[in-house]
Amino acid sequence: MTDRDSHSSSPDRNTRHKSAMQKLKSHVDAKVAAADEERGLLLVFTGNGKGKTTAAWGTVTRALGYGYRVAVVQFIKGLWECGERERLVADDNLEVAIMATGFTWDTQNRESDTAACHEVWEQAARMLADPDVYLVVLDEITYMLKFGYLDFDTVRTALENRPAEQTVIITGRNAHRELVAMADTVTEMNEVKHGFNNGLKARRGIDF
Ligand code: ATP
Ligand code: MG
Repeated sequence: MTDRDSHSSSPDRNTRHKSAMQKLKSHVDAKVAAADEERGLLLVFTGNGKGKTTAAWGTVTRALGYGYRVAVVQFIKGLWECGERERLVADDNLEVAIMATGFTWDTQNRESDTAACHEVWEQAARMLADPDVYLVVLDEITYMLKFGYLDFDTVRTALENRPAEQTVIITGRNAHRELVAMADTVTEMNEVKHGFNNGLKARRGIDF
């Protein structure tokens, strides 16, 4: 097909388009009809590319927009600024818990990291047991599991026993295999390019 054909509105092309759209519509309608279960979800945003935490905060904004209660637990990056947190923290429906130890490669202390992790996990566990909390974000928790600061079975049990209407979003690279298996929706951010690898500094309001 030439470029000209693709922009043409010949009767033939219009007919083909209509029949393709009809097929698509019946396919989509059937899928919508089949998706009849409604409950809270478990979502995982993982992979090496940029966008995991941003997507989580986007969903936080979405839920707050309807007046739902939301809890965000930030593992690892407590010392970092975070524009979304600054913007949304005044919302009475948002609760934020922060593990204020910074990056593990800064602290280099397994014992104090583990203690800080357990402290913030206590708050996460409380949120995961609260039926009034519609959405819980466990940002960067995958590293806690990877480093062994947090036991996977503890997290799994809390996730399995959470209220049926509660949605949980987990972010971070190297998501645990079993976590991926139990999740409803898993998105892998694929790094095609990242400016950082070309010497570009993390930018305020864009990267944090
Ligand atoms: P964001 O917070 O921008 O959504 P992210 O949550 O997907 O990113 P993290 O692995 O949590 O990514 O990275 C934290 C910081 O590192 C952010 O400032 C982010 O922009 C930046 N970053 C993300 N991906 C990469 C990458 N592939 N290389 C270097 N820096 C990255
Ligand atoms: Mg992140």
